[in-house]
Amino acid sequence: MRTIFIFLKTTPFSSAKRSVFLDQMESQTFDLLVIGGGITGAGIALDASARGLKVALVEKQDFGAGTSSRSTKLIHGGLRYLKQLEIGLVMEVGREREIVYRNAPHLVIPEKMLLPVIEKGSLSEFSTSIGLYVYDVLAGVKPGERRKMLSKEQTLKQEPLLRKGILKAGALYTEYRSDDARLVIENMKEAVKRGAVCLNYTRCEGFNYDQGKVKAARVTDQISGREVEVKAHYIINAAGPWVDELREMDKSRQGKRLHLTKGVHIVFPYEKLPFRQAMYFDAPLGRMIFAIPRDGCTYVGTTDTTYSDQKERPAVTKEDVDYLLQAVNGIIDGVQVQESDIISSWCGLRPLIHEDGKSPSELSRKDEIFESASGLLSIAGGKLTGYRKMSQRIVDKIFDRMSGSQGKAFVACSTHRIPLAGGFGSPQAVDRFVELLLGEAKQVNFGRELITKLVGKYGKNARTIVELAYEMSRKVQDAESLATLAELRYGMAEEMVCTPSDFFVRRSGMLYFNRLDILKHRESVFLWMESNTSLDSSFLIASKSELERELEEVMHFA
Ligand code: FAD
Repeated sequence: MRTIFIFLKTTPFSSAKRSVFLDQMESQTFDLLVIGGGITGAGIALDASARGLKVALVEKQDFGAGTSSRSTKLIHGGLRYLKQLEIGLVMEVGREREIVYRNAPHLVIPEKMLLPVIEKGSLSEFSTSIGLYVYDVLAGVKPGERRKMLSKEQTLKQEPLLRKGILKAGALYTEYRSDDARLVIENMKEAVKRGAVCLNYTRCEGFNYDQGKVKAARVTDQISGREVEVKAHYIINAAGPWVDELREMDKSRQGKRLHLTKGVHIVFPYEKLPFRQAMYFDAPLGRMIFAIPRDGCTYVGTTDTTYSDQKERPAVTKEDVDYLLQAVNGIIDGVQVQESDIISSWCGLRPLIHEDGKSPSELSRKDEIFESASGLLSIAGGKLTGYRKMSQRIVDKIFDRMSGSQGKAFVACSTHRIPLAGGFGSPQAVDRFVELLLGEAKQVNFGRELITKLVGKYGKNARTIVELAYEMSRKVQDAESLATLAELRYGMAEEMVCTPSDFFVRRSGMLYFNRLDILKHRESVFLWMESNTSLDSSFLIASKSELERELEEVMHFA
């Protein structure tokens, strides 16, 4: 196995190189500066750098730490938009889903979803059948994934936990499951490969202007405290729930504004809620929610309530939990779940666009671009699923402006054919890669389950993790600990991991689905980080406490 330590130390996206990135940000004028490193910002950075623009991106927390690690983690086909008669949106997200699947088949996995038709529910057999048929046609659903109507008996066979007394029938359709935070980081890495300078923990504090036009952002590194001015011909505000704050900094918060709604998910051990099948079902207050088995757990969500408190740490309340418990217990027989069964949770804010008189669930999920007199472009609304198209729309706008002011030729978007994480081309290629890596990983005793997990998270880069594990295998014997430390090393060298939470929450997803494993590995992770980081030791100490707080919070309901 080749030695790659030297290579990793000098990779372009290492937390050891933060000061170099800050120098780069300070010393040049970019074509485009993106503020916000969620899925929207990451998608824009990739699209623009793939079209040859010189791009910088600043993110005040970690990449994906805003809404983009707190979603239901589905690449939707847009079924709920059909209910709101947003036909164009259904067609667009259907196409987008196919593209994201093609570009990242290791990370975007088809998942059959059961829609139970229940007495006094929002759907009848007839409306479900017609609705799903229209959806299949509009969203261009592939033949093998089209809707299948089920009798009551067939529905119960599919999911025996459903309450027989209220069940009338069911339908199967297909959603795609993903990992939102990993989708963000893989887009960011591709942007960086193409020359973008992207940095987490850098906060935009304000703007500088030249003759009324925004020309630079004042940015503070949250780790070193260093302040830099980042100059750019164009600036995009992709700050998700914070979009209006930046518009306020730009004194351009007029007209349309954001309407934030809070969404909560709760996680159970699989044995407490042993659904055979992912489901989308009626919940109180006329909403519908998901229950999705995954990684030895089942997660249930989401709520949708108007929110106006602080945005960095939206909290799960007892009321949110009670609502979800009532919804899930209302649909099942035999088992019932309670608050004490919950093993993790998360809570995110939807950056939707306000419409007078509409409730949270009625607000459109369409994205919109706001242009200010200073030239600042702000983008809000939208979904994880549509991030690529949103990015395309706003980068097209930048090219339109550039062709007007600088006579620059329009370059077309190419992200529909940029594979993520090494690229597989097909789901079969993912399976073949798992087999190949399994053979290579014999020396480190990584079994099929572990390799499949690593490939699901890191794509072809899982091979680098296996190679790192091999390098460390004389010092660490246990395969699970070895894999965790190799993942950490990879994250610090290749994915800008700066804190234990970056690693446990957003790169490996352990906080939500394997919380107990964090307790097992956190000391060795702290130790490794302490002796291998170039970051300030007081920052690392603070970030340890941050992880402890997060471990607490996912189990605590105010
Ligand atoms: P964010 O991810 O919030 O990114 C904005 C970033 O800007 C943040 O990281 C923030 O720290 C940064 N920022 C803010 N201010 C500054 C500043 N001054 N300087 C530097 N950086 C700054 N969509 C789907 O397609 N499928 C789903 O299953 C799904 N489920 C959802 C469930 C819930 C509960 C929620 C809340 C949303 C869901 N969505 C889903 C929608 C989707 O998650 C969001 O549309 C998407 O993540 C928004 O991404 P964003 O990049 O615009 O915002």
